[in-house]
Amino acid sequence: MTANAFPEELLACRERLLHEGLDPCRAGSISTREEDSDVWWFLAMHGDQVLNGRVLVEHRGSDSVHARSVVEDGRSHQAFYSAFPAIQAVAHFHSAAAVAWSQSGRDLPCFGTTQCHEFHGLIPCARQERGLGQGASMVEAILRREWDPARHPGLLACGDGPWVWGSGVEDLVRRAKTLEFSARAALDTLTLNPNATPISPHDS
Ligand SMILES: [Zn+2]
Repeated sequence: MTANAFPEELLACRERLLHEGLDPCRAGSISTREEDSDVWWFLAMHGDQVLNGRVLVEHRGSDSVHARSVVEDGRSHQAFYSAFPAIQAVAHFHSAAAVAWSQSGRDLPCFGTTQCHEFHGLIPCARQERGLGQGASMVEAILRREWDPARHPGLLACGDGPWVWGSGVEDLVRRAKTLEFSARAALDTLTLNPNATPISPHDS
């Protein structure tokens, strides 16, 4: 990626997330940070909030953000980048099964190897903490557990939807698909056996 040039892979990532049905209401957002830089690029999933088919905003340039939800999402993306230097890309989306877990306020248990291999255990549901924004609350949910965000690359924002991150845009679609698959499978698992027990990362 050339410094300060729009990262074209974000557009492709958005198309893949939409094509996979992972944000059917187009209410999410994705971002990537330039290597060795504090500049990051943000793309809303809403078609009508994308200027000339791309846009975006640098974290210091919030004047160009023209929707409240985008501003709030942008703050959360910034919170991840500020707290975790190794994170280079972030996605927030609203896929049906993962949103159900977010809305229930429940951590997503790790019932199987698919979730275990990508997320190394349960995916926490982070409540917004008093005095903190959503982004800071999600960061706190990781820090409180003393987790390495590279090993635990996703969580659920309570009452909202899932977030995933990685060392590059190429991680986002795979992790978003895996999270949604795991959320759906967990619902089915509990339907078939309400007493199902989670596995440990060491079991897989
Ligand atoms: Zn959301």
